[in-house]
Amino acid sequence: MAMKTKVPVREQDPKVRATNFEEVCYGYNAEEAQEEAQRCLNCKNPRCVQGCPVSINIPAFIQEVKAGKFEDAAKVIAKSSSLPAVCGRVCPQESQCEGVCVVGIKGEPVSIGKLERFVADWSRENDIDLSGNIEKNGIKVGVVGSGPSGLACAGDLAKAGYDVTIFEAFHESGGVLTYGIPEFRLPKSKVVNYEINSIKKLGVKIENNVVVGRTITIDEMFEDEGFKAVFIGSGAGLPSFMGIPGENANGVLSANEFLTRVNLMKAYIDDYDTPIRVGKRVAVVGGGNVAMDAARTALRLGADTHIVYRRSESELPARVEEVHHAKEEGIQFNLLTNPTEILVDENGNVCGMKCIKMELGEPDESGRRRPVEIPGSEFELDVDMVIMSLGTRPNPLIASTTPGLDVNRKKCIVADEDGLTSLEGIYAGGDTVTGAATVISAMGAGRTAAAAMDKYLREKYL
Ligand SMILES: Cc1cc2nc3c(=O)[nH]c(=O)nc-3n(C[C@H](O)[C@H](O)[C@H](O)COP(=O)(O)OP(=O)(O)OC[C@H]3O[C@@H](n4cnc5c(N)ncnc54)[C@H](O)[C@@H]3O)c2cc1C
Ligand code: SF4
Repeated sequence: MAMKTKVPVREQDPKVRATNFEEVCYGYNAEEAQEEAQRCLNCKNPRCVQGCPVSINIPAFIQEVKAGKFEDAAKVIAKSSSLPAVCGRVCPQESQCEGVCVVGIKGEPVSIGKLERFVADWSRENDIDLSGNIEKNGIKVGVVGSGPSGLACAGDLAKAGYDVTIFEAFHESGGVLTYGIPEFRLPKSKVVNYEINSIKKLGVKIENNVVVGRTITIDEMFEDEGFKAVFIGSGAGLPSFMGIPGENANGVLSANEFLTRVNLMKAYIDDYDTPIRVGKRVAVVGGGNVAMDAARTALRLGADTHIVYRRSESELPARVEEVHHAKEEGIQFNLLTNPTEILVDENGNVCGMKCIKMELGEPDESGRRRPVEIPGSEFELDVDMVIMSLGTRPNPLIASTTPGLDVNRKKCIVADEDGLTSLEGIYAGGDTVTGAATVISAMGAGRTAAAAMDKYLREKYL
């Protein structure tokens, strides 16, 4: 009979971790992982696999963990995922594989994410090479963007023998994994860079500091550089703002800019050349994962930090685990609260934020109850920095420099279920197609497009 609860995972003490950028969760050791693996029923029709956007053979890898065959477990995962240590850490398992695990009906589901993370970390620590032998076909394929969609697409195409080059606008690779998700949730040098290097070992080349649409256009990639197909995985990095008075003041930032400065420009390291000024009292407007990351980062940089969110706790879009961690660390939640104006002092700096209390009315088109202002409930929040975390959209640069590439009303690239865009040989996937979503859905889109590109290229050139 399976234990009702998960084997607990060790974490850094909240009071200590609120002052450092080291990883919050320590993950399972081998004994803990084997004990947790015992809880899996090895179902004949495993619902967890259907819940996984890249269909990892979850019971098969868990059985290998149970038997102590960690390398074999890593091989099972490698068939479906090129970023297991990343996904084991940041995937919303509670709404995917673990959300449908049968053990979860009468108790807690199997801790699939933590087991995946254990296998990936063990594999890295033991330097297991999962690249295998690849027969090259010499056909050049270009990938725009080195986020999870681009990396997954590039990895699969390289395994199929193609000569793959990723063009990345930033000086470091990884997309949001590197410049968005903070170090304390996803360590860069230990985890992200290692998984990027595993993809490079397959023969994928990455050219950094290349802005496609400026340095080179997609048409030039075909005509001048000899690429036979291109995948666009350029993400959704353009932030939205509220359009309220005072938003142009010094001390108002988008969460993207704030997190990029801290993560990519290493502003969290004391004597680094690219520091950031963080207020003493910071409001982060929004309730998603990005808002939690921005708030927990500001807290670690010494600020008294508030989340300001217009709906109630049950509508918070962030992962439950992230909200729980944020609360444990001392973030204050101002729920059912909406900003109406940012107050600015005589020097143009933020000196407060006017807010109004909200209540929940009838459901809106998203099915969630619409927040409605409570008349006369205005108040001022005493803050000197505001971070806007209201969602992002794709940057229009690529669409505007690629004639014939269709985008929709939200400026997302239009692609069919295989990732094919309105142009022959040009595929797209991840956040640039769906709008801001998840690492695993971006990876899944990259893999789907890679399979379709392989079919197209075989029919045309091989
Ligand atoms: C702060 C934050 C926290 C998140 N937390 C989670 C989480 O916990 N779990 C989860 O599943 N998801 C999370 N997400 C969402 C997830 O990270 C994204 O859905 C995912 O990274 C999208 O992958 P992508 O490959 O489509 O794009 P991205 O990761 O955005 O990568 C796109 C890449 O393309 C590059 N690029 C853009 N334009 C060009 C150009 N013109 N030329 C060359 N390169 C270009 C960009 O520099 C970038 O490197 C989070 C997102 C953020 C911002
Ligand atoms: S659904 Fe749960 S118990 Fe069944 S195979 Fe998947 S992880 Fe194991």
